[in-house]
Amino acid sequence: MKFMADTHAHSLMSGHAYSTIREMAAAAKRKGLSALALTEHAPDMPGTCGLYYFQNLDVIPREMEGMRMLFGAEVNILTPDGSIDLSENICKDLDIVVASIHVPCYGLEHSKEENTRACLEVMKKPYINIIGHPDDGRFPVDYETIVKAAKETETLLELNNSSLRPASFRKGTRENLKEMLMYCKKYEVPVTTGSDAHVDADAGNFCYVEEVLEECNFPEELIMTTDWEKLKPYLNCYKQW
Ligand SMILES: [Zn+2]
Ligand SMILES: [Zn+2]
Repeated sequence: MKFMADTHAHSLMSGHAYSTIREMAAAAKRKGLSALALTEHAPDMPGTCGLYYFQNLDVIPREMEGMRMLFGAEVNILTPDGSIDLSENICKDLDIVVASIHVPCYGLEHSKEENTRACLEVMKKPYINIIGHPDDGRFPVDYETIVKAAKETETLLELNNSSLRPASFRKGTRENLKEMLMYCKKYEVPVTTGSDAHVDADAGNFCYVEEVLEECNFPEELIMTTDWEKLKPYLNCYKQW
């Protein structure tokens, strides 16, 4: 399988990531990709960039090191009612928006029903393109419900390479991802691939995602990051045209 895009990565701007935008672009290019999304953590994540970062992104060229570049955010899901930490008005101007649950912004005390509701409510919002790392067993969800809602709302579910690292702090990710992929296959629901790289060495790295896709015998036509034409309609910057 040949991937051409990475829809989730971080530069220095996220505060706990270590490479510049250009270093990330060059590294993804060396991996053979032609499109990279830099989705910096939204403002409620401790140490990340502020609101103005997300409002000034149109100054950055969308082609860099021969790569097509997308600039957006990884917004934080804050509560079971699906509130997030960037306004609709800001999200609408971002190329791509990933929404994810993170411990510092959401806590660990919510039930499976609440986590599922949080994801469903976020998927219903305009300008949210992707649910990031829905594989984290610290935030259990009902995968059948999530997968069906992803189809209805045309939101992509993410296969997150960092989640699958043996040293990942997320829990049960491989088993959870396999369950999610089983439902994606059953209901023919498209997915995306994100390295969630926090350093250039990991940009465009899908080594663990590839293993799981093979184990699941997952059909390539449901993976949107193997062809720009497949991915395009799911991106904020294209949906608006
Ligand atoms: Zn994340
Ligand atoms: Zn991330």
